[in-house]
Amino acid sequence: EKNVDEGKRVEFKLDKVCELRFEVENNEEVELELKSGMAEIFGTELIQNKKYVFYSGGKIAVFTWHGCVLELSGKTEVAYIAKETPMVMYINTHAALEQMRVKAETDNTSGPTVMVVGPGDVGKSTVCKLLVNYAVRLGRRPTFVDLDVGQGQISIPGTIGSLSVERPADVEEGNFSLQAPLIYHFGHISPSVNINLYNCLVSQLADIVQMRGETNRKAAISGVVINTCGWVKGLGYKAVIHAAQAFEVDVIIVLDQERLHNDLKRDLPKFVKIVLQPKSGGVVERSRQHRVESRDAKVKEYFYGLSTPLYPHQYDVKFSDVTILKIGAPLLPDSLLPLGMKQEDAHLKLVAVPPSNQLLHHVLAVSMALTSDDDIVRSNVMGFICINGVDMEKKVLTILAPAPRPLPRSILLLSDVQFVDTH
Ligand code: ADP
Repeated sequence: EKNVDEGKRVEFKLDKVCELRFEVENNEEVELELKSGMAEIFGTELIQNKKYVFYSGGKIAVFTWHGCVLELSGKTEVAYIAKETPMVMYINTHAALEQMRVKAETDNTSGPTVMVVGPGDVGKSTVCKLLVNYAVRLGRRPTFVDLDVGQGQISIPGTIGSLSVERPADVEEGNFSLQAPLIYHFGHISPSVNINLYNCLVSQLADIVQMRGETNRKAAISGVVINTCGWVKGLGYKAVIHAAQAFEVDVIIVLDQERLHNDLKRDLPKFVKIVLQPKSGGVVERSRQHRVESRDAKVKEYFYGLSTPLYPHQYDVKFSDVTILKIGAPLLPDSLLPLGMKQEDAHLKLVAVPPSNQLLHHVLAVSMALTSDDDIVRSNVMGFICINGVDMEKKVLTILAPAPRPLPRSILLLSDVQFVDTH
């Protein structure tokens, strides 16, 4: 293990099937260069002699199949070469999925829908990224679905969504390029806050992804890779089962939890292939603080960009020009429910939110719905705004938006997620 210090360049020689793992120290940057050989980061190949920069908190593994020489400079928290990795297992999974795609091509059926499940911090997102990247590198166009409302890869926290992937993920930012993502607003960072709404949105997303497969042969053959959240107990487990049914998954990869593996085998039909795989020793457990920071960073990235800066707009909107709603009414005791109404109905009910100072710093989703006659709960969203100011006297909201005025739609959905715009 070496710690790389400021100003110094440190060379690492990797044998085949090894990885260099490093973490970037807080408020520091680390530069990486591939000097010779071939290497990849979570499935995306590196270009020789190109300098890649990683920022504060980054946790990276540079893997090589055939051996390589790497150089690091900047401040790392840790940097070491690991010889034991589950990468061979993961690539075997990829190979099996690819065979299913080839079969789908000849049989005129659909490619594999694979879901990655497990508790928090076992590398679920990373395995999804690997599988998607490897598929893309073979010329496939897989659909990536992220059901993790806490630490999702596609949009900001509090959402689920899907994306058709054409290019490997960006090495430095770690993201897939966002071309026409399909995003649904949930509004909370844990499914537990409104599990009925969560399951409803998962069903909706599954329907749309399946419909897309019916009109796009290439997408259908390429299949779907689904990331899930780390909540796998009680209702969380039920949500995993629900997602598996909604997406009609063919394969489930369970990372690091034998019990979950056994439970799923017991509760899902036999034709679903369920495999247990180890987590990588490199996966770093993230502290609560780190999670809070990375959620915040995700919202900031939405408005301001990362390595390519974005320039959001701030402008005023009259209270009377928007309709602010939240999904989910407070629960009444059964005895007080109006006749014929079920408790679940309340979870999906739209409630008007009168403008007030309480909206300050909240993120709001801009619904695709045009009028209140549309199915607002199940409509996808166009994007997000943040409330930077509320003037109760003038009756205007000052909003931060990715595009210039006017707001493209007037129905806004309140999220628990907050962002303090310090720019
Ligand atoms: P999960 O989705 O299960 O919560 P992630 O895939 O997000 O877990 O991984 C947690 C963290 O560990 C991420 O910051 C990721 O970059 C890092 N990580 C994953 N695999 C490795 C590895 N082999 N070496 C070093 N860091 C890794």
